[in-house]
Amino acid sequence: MHWMPWFLALTALSCRPAPDRDDATRAREREEMVAQQIAARGVRDERTLAAMRAVPRHLFVPEEFASQAYADHPLPIGHGQTISQPYIVGFMTQALDLDGSETVLEVGTGSGYQAAVLAEIVPRVYSIEIVAPLAQQSAELLKDLGYTNVEVRAGDGYLGWPEAAPFDAIIVTAAAPRIPEPLKEQLGDGGRLVLPVGDAWQELVVVTRRGDRFEEKRVMDVRFVPMTGEVRH
Ligand code: SAH
Repeated sequence: MHWMPWFLALTALSCRPAPDRDDATRAREREEMVAQQIAARGVRDERTLAAMRAVPRHLFVPEEFASQAYADHPLPIGHGQTISQPYIVGFMTQALDLDGSETVLEVGTGSGYQAAVLAEIVPRVYSIEIVAPLAQQSAELLKDLGYTNVEVRAGDGYLGWPEAAPFDAIIVTAAAPRIPEPLKEQLGDGGRLVLPVGDAWQELVVVTRRGDRFEEKRVMDVRFVPMTGEVRH
């Protein structure tokens, strides 16, 4: 640009397209989100924090909500569903206790954001979404953003993903009235299953498989959209 007359150079600068400015703003908001909402509240796992610094959350929400993408609350993503509050994503990701080598299953792809956070940490992510248009939309977005290690399928996550089992970790992002048996069965030995259990009142439960035994720990009160499908029958 050094050969440009100064007035052209100035015009070029002032006419810079809005997305560039937005991206810089969003990047700053994202840093603040991780520092103030995630790390400051006790999520210390470096892998989780790095992943949440990397994933452009504003691209996973409808455009009209992009300026709220890094705020401290969930947001609507259409079809009556929501993208979880950032802190909850951080807390659940840390609870999966990942070392970076795992195969992970997610039930409830929604926007694809949680799947992207996982894909930053582990080599292989499988994610199931029961609302077919959401499954398609998030699969496309993840592909566009270069997350080639995520496979999304439309279907009922109650049954898990038997062909890809066993999983080192399973995360469910919709509330089930009881723990789905097939998901426990698809956990590998030592594997962790993190899910909200309940109806109006829900608790986040961490299930750890030890051989044929399953240890259950209740870790916090939460509010998720309901898991639908087979688990209601
Ligand atoms: N992890 C998502 C959060 C989505 S909200 C994100 O990061 O955006 C929970 C999602 O679970 C909704 O999209 C809902 O349609 C889906 N869901 C509910 N019951 C399900 C089931 N039985 N199987 C798969 N997905 C389900």
